Amino acid sequence: VVVLAASSGGGLVAYADSQPDQPQGFKKKKIVVLGTGWAGTTFLRNLDSKLYDVQVISPRNYFAFTPLLPSVTCGTVEPRSVVEPIRRILEKKGGDFKFWEAECFKIDPANKKIHCRSNMGTNLDGNGEFLVDYDYLVVAVGARSNTFNTPGVTENCHFLKEVEDAQKIRRSVMDCFEKASLPYLNEEERKKNLHFVVVGGGPTGVEFAAELHDFVTEDLSKLYPSIQHLVKISLIEAADHILTMFDKRITNFAEDKFGRDGIDVKTGYKVVKVSKDAITMQNPATGDIAVPYGMAVWSTGIGTRPFVVDFMKQIGQANRRVLATDEWLRVRECDDVYAVGDCATINQRRVMEDISEIFRVADKDKSGTLTVKEIQDILEDIYVRYPQVKLYMKSKQLNGIADLIRTGKGDTEKESVELSIEEFKKALSLVDSQVKNLPATAQVAAQQGQYLATCFNKMQAAEENPEGPIRIRGEGRHRFNPFRYRHLGQFAPLGGEQTAAQLPGDWVSIGHSSQWLWYSVYATKQISWRTRALVISDWGRRFIFGRDSSG
Ligand code: FAD
Ligand code: MG
Ligand code: MG
Ligand code: MG
Ligand code: MG
Repeated sequence: VVVLAASSGGGLVAYADSQPDQPQGFKKKKIVVLGTGWAGTTFLRNLDSKLYDVQVISPRNYFAFTPLLPSVTCGTVEPRSVVEPIRRILEKKGGDFKFWEAECFKIDPANKKIHCRSNMGTNLDGNGEFLVDYDYLVVAVGARSNTFNTPGVTENCHFLKEVEDAQKIRRSVMDCFEKASLPYLNEEERKKNLHFVVVGGGPTGVEFAAELHDFVTEDLSKLYPSIQHLVKISLIEAADHILTMFDKRITNFAEDKFGRDGIDVKTGYKVVKVSKDAITMQNPATGDIAVPYGMAVWSTGIGTRPFVVDFMKQIGQANRRVLATDEWLRVRECDDVYAVGDCATINQRRVMEDISEIFRVADKDKSGTLTVKEIQDILEDIYVRYPQVKLYMKSKQLNGIADLIRTGKGDTEKESVELSIEEFKKALSLVDSQVKNLPATAQVAAQQGQYLATCFNKMQAAEENPEGPIRIRGEGRHRFNPFRYRHLGQFAPLGGEQTAAQLPGDWVSIGHSSQWLWYSVYATKQISWRTRALVISDWGRRFIFGRDSSG
């Protein structure tokens, strides 16, 4: 067995399995992972389990394939088919893993401890609480649904975040239909019970509305023929359009299709209050309107979990809305704590903050000016450290560094001309406008989990052979290149076996063919052969027998 470690500079060091022939006192470093969602699970699946002592803590003992949750709400896919026990995932990997079903309620970075509480009842002390030490902490706790403090939402609306939520929605849809069928109701009451309201025109809200519409037209209309004409689905969105994160063509197609399907898309309306019987929405033109409803699903965005907010206060991030990390996914101002997925955002460094420093590093001959060659030599490093530069050049269709320099010089011809610091600043002055936060998606969370695992796996090798990009004074040495997101495209299932797909390079495809692409991508992305088989058989069962309406 190789002893992998013992390095001088401290920092991240990993040790191989303790063996009798190893020096006394050699211990593997402890990694504690909070959360078993997309980020946490992908991290665990990619981590070399021989190198660390790993403890996993999460209030649920399974991974959930969230992109299929909207399908669970209407029974297109069964709840069992979208979850995989975390213990099975860990067991398959082998190695030193421990799992505790509990939630973290406090991070104590000063003492490198986390406070946890089991949801299984009490221990001898009577509170079910325990402490866990870490050497490295990976925070992957995701986000919570955000009500934006709208009164009545928590009490009266469904969220669609967890598997339980999807199951509750399914039962609630069936309850509404059964209630509306009871003999003692009048027409108004039946209508009210069959009014389904979806708040939020993002991908989740839109997909749920589409699923529900399919469920009603394909299955329930046959089972409830006398009331099916009373069903109404409303989709309320505060912005001017739904699916604003997608290409305009997709937004238009979705709005048109929903219009044809009879889904009432109400854009420009903000929900301000939800009571047991009515939803109140606001529009500058109409003022407040209250509409009776049977069931409502709230899907307007995400917020930070309270214990993460506390943690942010402790480490001087009180004025931020989301936990910030650097481009290496390290929590700012907090040693050995990492954050991945929906619970954090990357604070991309601005070129303009570092411009003098970049100039100094580039100016190898200390001439006080930069030649094209000097810039060329450092360009790859700049791209790695400041991806916005490359994005900017692409967006402005600048073909190379010479083009970029021209925008700084203002003069067109000579490439040999040297740049002063002022001209260099001018050339790069607009690049930071390309800095964007990454979306809160499974795709981002999974890529971050994988990236971080790779870093932990290569810690020792990187100690000797760092691959990090240019360094800004006072930053310390980088062992790795920063995290870089690769967008693989996104889908918006719109019902009726039609899906909109937006793939890299603004390639847009809408219709039945993309629905098949969707089926195949989502089958491929399943976490295990077991869930893959279950999901595919659910789809097949639905095609043949339709969806189940008991519940
Ligand atoms: P999560 O996956 O939410 O995992 C968080 C984990 O932390 C959970 O295991 C949770 O139990 C645990 N946890 C919570 N609190 C604590 C605590 N106090 N202590 C310890 N552990 C805790 N993204 C896409 O890219 N494509 C899609 O099609 C898509 N569809 C979606 C559909 C729905 C209905 C939803 C809700 C989301 C969808 N997303 C999709 C978004 C995607 O699910 C999230 O971006 C992703 O789950 C984020 O991963 P995460 O690991 O950060 O958080
Ligand atoms: Mg996670
Ligand atoms: Mg998840
Ligand atoms: Mg994030
Ligand atoms: Mg020079």
